[in-house]
Amino acid sequence: MAVAQFTCREVVELVTDYLEDALPPSEQARFDLHLDVCAHCRDHVEQLRTTVALAGRLRPSDLGPEAQAALLAAFRTWHSSGPAPGRRSPG
Ligand SMILES: [Zn+2]
Repeated sequence: MAVAQFTCREVVELVTDYLEDALPPSEQARFDLHLDVCAHCRDHVEQLRTTVALAGRLRPSDLGPEAQAALLAAFRTWHSSGPAPGRRSPG
């Protein structure tokens, strides 16, 4: 049985909480699971982590709507060979 993990979209939406250690442990574990299997998100998180380390905090411009839209567009490209993102019922 595979453990339900976050999608790339959820990672993008929650990455600031993740970097601030604001996620509940169960969600942080799922976040880590996604990073284990998704090099794109891993790179993204590492870049943001570096930004936070240099700037001390995330600025709105780092994760504004346009930046998120660009990222999500990239995610769609990465997964273009698979099913469309979205929730699906088990079974
Ligand atoms: Zn991902």
